[in-house]
Amino acid sequence: MMKKEYLRRDLRSIKPYQAGKYAYNLKLDANESPWPLPLEIRAQLASELLNGNDYQLYPDSDADRLRQALAEKLKVKPHNILIGNGSDELLHIVTTAFAGWGDKVLCPSPGFSMVLWYARLTGAIPVTYRLNEKLQYSAADIKLALEAHSPKILHICTPNNPTGSVLPVSDIYEIAMSFDGVVVVDEAYYEFYGESALSLVDKCPNLVVLRTFSKAMGMAGLRIGYLIGNQELTAEIYKVKPPYNVNSFSQRAAELLLAYPEIMEDRVSKTIRAREWLYNALVGLRGVEPYPSRANFILFRVKNGLAVFRGLLKKGILVRHFGNDPVLHNHLRITIGREEDNKFIIQSLAEVLADEEGWS
Ligand code: PMP
Repeated sequence: MMKKEYLRRDLRSIKPYQAGKYAYNLKLDANESPWPLPLEIRAQLASELLNGNDYQLYPDSDADRLRQALAEKLKVKPHNILIGNGSDELLHIVTTAFAGWGDKVLCPSPGFSMVLWYARLTGAIPVTYRLNEKLQYSAADIKLALEAHSPKILHICTPNNPTGSVLPVSDIYEIAMSFDGVVVVDEAYYEFYGESALSLVDKCPNLVVLRTFSKAMGMAGLRIGYLIGNQELTAEIYKVKPPYNVNSFSQRAAELLLAYPEIMEDRVSKTIRAREWLYNALVGLRGVEPYPSRANFILFRVKNGLAVFRGLLKKGILVRHFGNDPVLHNHLRITIGREEDNKFIIQSLAEVLADEEGWS
């Protein structure tokens, strides 16, 4: 008997998202923080857990305490903020809010693949604009793509995953003012860069900024992201937010983490130092072409991406490779870890390249 296909016709060719499952000693494939949640916070969470909590109740659907704490930190109002189960969920929510069946969603290429996926899930059509040959943004190319496609949503990711490149705030402003759709500025890696489009939220009624606790804040496992937009637009997006989307434990962990800014700042400066060291070391390796990065990772090109990926994995180092991607197939992305691991990484990479080229 013919198997009945229940899945929507337009979704049948989608492959389920698969996070790589490899054995490793150093996990440098997903831009996570190398440090655990600070002990003070774990101790506080554990004591709250033991001394009674309200886990039998639903979480605060609006995450009011966390929104309040974030609003104070960012100098905005709680009504400008929406908390998500990771910024991934917020990408899904904004796509659903602003793009419907057959609408176009314009995304950078190379870029964060989830934005294309969420566009497809909502029935929209993902279209892309190319970064230039150095994998840098070009505001002129974005404007041309806007004219060509008339999308409902424009995605800008700055610093961009996986390239590490950035688009100046002045360009984002100009683009947002001339565009009759919603601009989503994904600042997942903002803390490692320092420049933000947050100040545009007041001036551009069509712009939202997305941030996350998964990268610099080191809480990827607890899934907290946040969106900042002007009051009206944020209220519109709220209509799409699932109720109780963020669990109480994670809300509390994020709120506690905001009370320790010095720990986070120290970790970010260590990461930036390690990034600069690693970049210079990569430049010095024969057969490696790194791209300058303002995030907590570096993308680099080699002659045979898959062979180098496998060689590093044999030495216990897991990095990101990009399968058969037409632009990125010989590129690898490595997360910036602890400074003390950098020499081992470079030494290992040099050995893998030497084996590859038959230099040894
Ligand atoms: N945006 C970008 C650019 C990312 O790289 C990631 C994670 N890789 C996310 C959003 C999603 O992060 P999270 O859901 O953990 O907040």
